[in-house]
Amino acid sequence: MRKNIVAGNWKMNLTLSEAQALVTEITSLVAAEAAGSTVEVVVCPPFPLLSAVGQQLPQGGMLHLGAQNCHQKESGAYTGEVSARLLASVGCEYVILGHSERRQYFREDDEQLSQKLKAALAAGLKPIFCVGESLETREADDTFDYIGRQLKDGLFHLSNEEFAQVVVAYEPIWAIGTGKTATSQQAQEVHAFIREQIARAYSAEAALNTTILYGGSANAQNARELFGQTDVDGGLIGGASLKARDFTEIIKSF
Ligand code: PEP
Repeated sequence: MRKNIVAGNWKMNLTLSEAQALVTEITSLVAAEAAGSTVEVVVCPPFPLLSAVGQQLPQGGMLHLGAQNCHQKESGAYTGEVSARLLASVGCEYVILGHSERRQYFREDDEQLSQKLKAALAAGLKPIFCVGESLETREADDTFDYIGRQLKDGLFHLSNEEFAQVVVAYEPIWAIGTGKTATSQQAQEVHAFIREQIARAYSAEAALNTTILYGGSANAQNARELFGQTDVDGGLIGGASLKARDFTEIIKSF
């Protein structure tokens, strides 16, 4: 059965000491939850902080380590890039791929994302694959077609075994960092649509077993209602993941 996951995308924020203070606070705030909790929490710091943050996470607890991106090649002369294999070697279990900021600012397209997915899976990482429409697309009533295409072109080339490792994140671009959250109904209808597409591409069982996260201005106030939707299995959290109390309240919303 699918997992409930709350993942924090720290983006290009926090110094080493700030990150360590945040993890110390989150660890102590979730300590009471940890025993018996079924929620998996993933923190995704910037590359230089991964190793130190990973070493700080209690072994075998509810906190796991993720990266925000990886390169598609395994190694080589790609100055400034980081491979999936390197991420795995410092303790990463997850990697966010296809975030709208990467698609928009770094021109990552379906072809490149397909290669990154393959590289991540080959290194044993679980990809958190993001999809989501712009405001323009939503207003043109093209949301479902657009997301259907992102899934088909970016993700559904994976084999059954590969796809079983993937977490999908629905992140409407108009809701990311804007304070404008999708209503729980808007989130639920897109999540249900994504699950239906997975059932068609793979199987009903694969669809039931896939964790689908919502991302876009989720916070301590709206998480309970969002996570209460049948097809919303957790959240990918940006801004609110940088504040220990807010992030912990989101985790406790299940
Ligand atoms: C994100 O960037 O993945 C995100 C969901 O950001 P925020 O929560 O700040 O909207």
